[in-house]
Amino acid sequence: KVVCVTGGSGFIASWIVKFLLERGYTVRTTVRNPSNPKKVSHLANLEGAKERLHLFKADLLEEGSFDSAVEGCEGVFHTASPVRFVVKDPQADLIDPAVKGTLNVLKSCAKSPSVKRVVFTSSTAAVVYSGKPKTPEVLVDETWFSSADICRELKMWYHLSKTLAENAAWNFVNENNIDMITINPGMVAGKLLQPEINESVEYILNVINGKPIPNQAFGWVDVKDVAKAHILAYENASASGRYCLTERVIHASELARILRDLYPTFHIPDKCEGDAPYVSTYQISKEKAKSLGIEFTPLELSVRETVEHLREKNIVN
Ligand code: NDP
Repeated sequence: KVVCVTGGSGFIASWIVKFLLERGYTVRTTVRNPSNPKKVSHLANLEGAKERLHLFKADLLEEGSFDSAVEGCEGVFHTASPVRFVVKDPQADLIDPAVKGTLNVLKSCAKSPSVKRVVFTSSTAAVVYSGKPKTPEVLVDETWFSSADICRELKMWYHLSKTLAENAAWNFVNENNIDMITINPGMVAGKLLQPEINESVEYILNVINGKPIPNQAFGWVDVKDVAKAHILAYENASASGRYCLTERVIHASELARILRDLYPTFHIPDKCEGDAPYVSTYQISKEKAKSLGIEFTPLELSVRETVEHLREKNIVN
């Protein structure tokens, strides 16, 4: 059982690699720079890595870059994509690697008859900005698709990159008869395996550090649940389509409250700056994810695991 995980150094991918190794898979994983210890040493230390983990060098922007990693694999988990909420050049920094990179990976899959299923890490960013109103009573589900025009209007470039990438992926797999499933997580919290802090954990860190609370509402989910969902979606023959993965949608001020309740000594503001009305929360359906066997970790526990990790690494006191 040989599978490939693109972008293995990342937050979510590192957990996918860990769980795949624990389940006995032989895992190929791609990184841009296999000689950078910050990107790979945590992977090399995973149980089973010595025997069954193989690193490949690949870049989303290079045509054919993934061919050798994918060739001969039964499953491909495509997670690699830049995750940055602030960029100078949205096209070059986010959209090109997300869209061209996804097509690059899928082209390698189309060339390799061994590939039986692709699991693609999309996002709720590609689900919830459809233009339909969102209020606390509204239940968003897998039938929603974000509108590229709305993402552009709101200058949400990361969201645009995920929306365009998922859209391009569905078009490609439909034309090329590839079995693909997408996992669409909310913001991901939890313990990091890799030394570098990713964007969603940075969001929590900013709140801990007392930075102004953004007037934003996002869904949140635990990283281990996200990694498990990828593997269950791969292994379950009857899985299909998209799977939203969110434990709870909260306003950032609620994240601040959770942090204050857990860690009363932190100096965290209790409301957003300014007088603008708070952006509304909404609900995201858990039904499909539960049908895969996901039992959602309560957000308070994911937040605690994130903070405990940051304390262990002396990033927060
Ligand atoms: P990380 O920032 O931890 O990792 C991103 C990965 O993408 C890294 O492995 C990075 O490789 C790779 N990557 C970026 N640009 C390129 C490129 N040009 N060529 C090759 N690889 C590249 O991300 P997360 O684990 O947080 O996210 C992983 C996936 O999950 C992404 O697709 C993201 O959109 C999605 N997602 C994340 C959420 C979150 O809250 N974290 C929420 C919902 C979806 P390298 O190590 O070489 O830099």
